Amino acid sequence: ELGEWQHALRAQFPIITAHPEQAYLDSAATAQKPQAVLDAVHTYLTTTNANAGRGTYPWANRTTVLVEQARDRVKRFLGDPAPERSAVHFTSGTTEGLRTVARDWLPGLLADGDEIVVPFADHEANIVPWLEAQQHLARQGVRIRVRPMPYQRASGDYDHTALAETAGGRTRFVAATHVHHVYGGDMNIHRIRRAVGPDAVICLDAAQSIGHLPVSVAELDVDFVVFSGHKAMALPGTGAVWARRSRGPDFVPGGWSGTPNTVGIASLTAAMNWLDAAGTDRIEQWTVALASRLTDGLRHLDAYEILGCQTSLAADSPVQRRQGIVTFRHHAIDSSDLGFILFSHGFMVRSDQHCQGRAGERTGSVRVSPHVHNTVEEVDRLLAVLATLG
Ligand code: PMP
Repeated sequence: ELGEWQHALRAQFPIITAHPEQAYLDSAATAQKPQAVLDAVHTYLTTTNANAGRGTYPWANRTTVLVEQARDRVKRFLGDPAPERSAVHFTSGTTEGLRTVARDWLPGLLADGDEIVVPFADHEANIVPWLEAQQHLARQGVRIRVRPMPYQRASGDYDHTALAETAGGRTRFVAATHVHHVYGGDMNIHRIRRAVGPDAVICLDAAQSIGHLPVSVAELDVDFVVFSGHKAMALPGTGAVWARRSRGPDFVPGGWSGTPNTVGIASLTAAMNWLDAAGTDRIEQWTVALASRLTDGLRHLDAYEILGCQTSLAADSPVQRRQGIVTFRHHAIDSSDLGFILFSHGFMVRSDQHCQGRAGERTGSVRVSPHVHNTVEEVDRLLAVLATLG
């Protein structure tokens, strides 16, 4: 049944069906777009295109409404239980979104002597803004202590026990990642909340989870969710910050930010509609099954070392949950060379370093990140090629 569902969805990706001999396995870098998103872009640009917020004619008014409705759509997509109190700010992606939180929200949350927790083995985009904020605050005489997020290196998960031991009453803010972009595991965010208590502010980098699995702000109990549209099947240059508590209707992060990316925002709405209709729970089931199959296959090939999440456990396992990212290295072949070799066999994967912070991996690796259009046959074909390189 899941197979038929997947078959119908795969057919909706024109770039995929146009290249049946190739397998796109780099969705963690950016996702391909279904026809519905391409149609929404075309329709917007051929029927409505205008600037938002300042028009006296129908195209401009429709664009204003489109942007406002997109904010509500993001809230609904995230299962926001109190949309009247929250805020959505559109950005160009996760990188700008995290910077926006660091620049426009964080200073108001912190006082002299407070602590923040920074995940130094996560994506650079979730490290640099917090260090910049620390410097910025120091210039104003507010001294913030930065604590490194503890990790369990073998699994690529956070060490929630160590976090609970080190986090104290001054721990006001925790930057965390929902799904690790190299290690491929769900980072157990509810355990962070348990470790740091109800009053700490948790900012979630959801770049690798939005569009891949259901993301519920009520369930996760986080204060900020930041993501990129392009990884969730919308156009590049889109993204959003969801903030649990709005700072009021007059507050515009970053000041008046000029013309919004209206067509990008239209594509984001279309992408969320498509993802909800497809079912992010089923997308998760599918990509986890593919990633688990790949992990299990790799474990039998001596030439490869799998990084981070090694499990192929069911979603309800008490151990770390695997998501749809598998990263590995060959004992002798350089990861960039392996990337070229795999492309010569029709596989598009990410190789080398992965924008991971300095506490991350020292050497390169190959990352395989399937999405709903990928098939079991593609994974088996990839494993067969990898086996010949042993
Ligand atoms: N955080 C994580 C976990 C990511 O995987 C990425 C993208 N690789 C980013 C942040 C940055 O996203 P963007 O390039 O869309 O700003």
